[in-house]
Amino acid sequence: MLTQLISDKKLIEQKLLKPHEIHDLEPHIKPFYHAGVYYPYARHARNPKRILLKLSGEALMGEKNYGIDSSLLEKYSQEIKEIHNKGIEIAIVIGGGNIYRGIESEESGINRVQGDYMGMMATLINSMALQSHLEKLGCDTRLMSGFNVDQVCEPFIRRRAIRHLEKGRIVIFGAGLGKPYFTTDSTASLRAIEIEANIVLKGTRVDGVYDFDPEKKKDAKKFNENGKITM
Ligand code: UDP
Repeated sequence: MLTQLISDKKLIEQKLLKPHEIHDLEPHIKPFYHAGVYYPYARHARNPKRILLKLSGEALMGEKNYGIDSSLLEKYSQEIKEIHNKGIEIAIVIGGGNIYRGIESEESGINRVQGDYMGMMATLINSMALQSHLEKLGCDTRLMSGFNVDQVCEPFIRRRAIRHLEKGRIVIFGAGLGKPYFTTDSTASLRAIEIEANIVLKGTRVDGVYDFDPEKKKDAKKFNENGKITM
């Protein structure tokens, strides 16, 4: 899914040359080696292709009603690895809706802010699961959190996140923005700007933008083009 999505967008236009070919082409340019790929042009070295992938919590559930379907995580990890091997830097934001959503907390008598922190913890659980699967495949990863969980991962520090990406590590941003009343979609947008990602890709169970949740309303209308949407 992810592989196709990215190649459809012609993101992978990288022409792979051997170091001596690069030198013959432009002798003044020192080839730049990153994550198994020689970048032929200096501008690629200065501005490598970097994506931010947002996975909703529900995308991890598969056919289950709750929690994580490990076989799905395994599949996503494989696809993420394949893309990363092509020299694309990958940062990932994961939601927590498969475990807990703050907005539902008040119905069960839990304070909304407390509920949102529980939701953020849920995103960390998902992030740790994905990190494990990626590491099992031999990927170098870092998990960065929106709030401090020192024993588990490092805090989000913009410059450090960029450095990890430049070094070929897959970076997962957990715990959202670390503040209540936000969602992981806002997190994905903001982190993408902060790390200067070229594109944000969203992996969710819904295949587009609808006027209502198509999983709850069968006749929900799908918008086929971008424009002003009145809800
Ligand atoms: N959340 C939050 N602040 C953030 C990101 C997330 O409070 O910056 C909480 C919020 O309660 C949200 C939950 O974490 O409902 C899980 O995130 P989200 O609903 O975005 O997950 P998704 O729908 O993508 O699975």
